[in-house]
Amino acid sequence: MAFSQLNALLGLIAALALALYAFTRQDLSSTGTLAALFVGMVVFSFGGWTWFLLLVAFFVSSSWLTAYKEKDKTEVQKEFAKGGIRDFWQVMANGSLPALFALLFFLRGEVIFFVAFVGALASATADTWATELGILSERPRMITNGRSVAKGASGAVSGIGLLAALGGATFIALCAVGLNVFNNYIADAQALGILRNYMVDLFVGGSRFVLVAAAAGFLGSLADSFFGATIQGMFWCPKCKKETERHKHRCGFETHYYKGFTLVDNDVVNFLSACFGALTAIALYELL
Ligand SMILES: [Zn+2]
Repeated sequence: MAFSQLNALLGLIAALALALYAFTRQDLSSTGTLAALFVGMVVFSFGGWTWFLLLVAFFVSSSWLTAYKEKDKTEVQKEFAKGGIRDFWQVMANGSLPALFALLFFLRGEVIFFVAFVGALASATADTWATELGILSERPRMITNGRSVAKGASGAVSGIGLLAALGGATFIALCAVGLNVFNNYIADAQALGILRNYMVDLFVGGSRFVLVAAAAGFLGSLADSFFGATIQGMFWCPKCKKETERHKHRCGFETHYYKGFTLVDNDVVNFLSACFGALTAIALYELL
């Protein structure tokens, strides 16, 4: 695919529209908006419009589910280190890897980078859907030992959360194949003239790829819960006798170290599970 100033300009406009949408819905802080603008522009400039629309599918569906039953979630979210408005690092935790794969695809032109891109995005979508719907579950259990835990705890899984993860991963997988088929269909149309240069020639396959991407996304979200239960740094408030992600509890007390790695917060966990989703997609794509 040709890189041009026109493509970068289109990318800037599209990314601006997406960032503005997120900002007005109060999904993103100002630094989060900047991060989204950067990710959107890189993905559009180097991957093209189908890649960008997949990013939009992740972003808009996550935004809707974050807003869904927002009032019921606020109490639970108080134990999270960060609230519903996503900052720079939260956006980069999910967006940096897709942006990197778009750049690698541009440099190398290999289909596998699109596979990895979809795997990372499917994983991020599955995790966000599972978090936003699973938090409403009445009976979440810890992924490692099956014990009942508080709503919204890192590493908690529930029936509704698992279903949501499967739904999110399948949604991205279907969008990826649908957009890919449509892109190839119009890329073949010679009548497009100069626009032809902005279409990406790659075909990833139909139902087989849906399976690969959906499975990778679902497994990525399970990895997220697993990392959340094992390596994520957790703290203990001596006053409330409560486990929390916060260094300073909302009651004002300093929390002390409880378990996990102190440097591994929710953003690091999200980044690692997106890596896991991407690697799983590559492995399944090569094996199946
Ligand atoms: Zn406290």
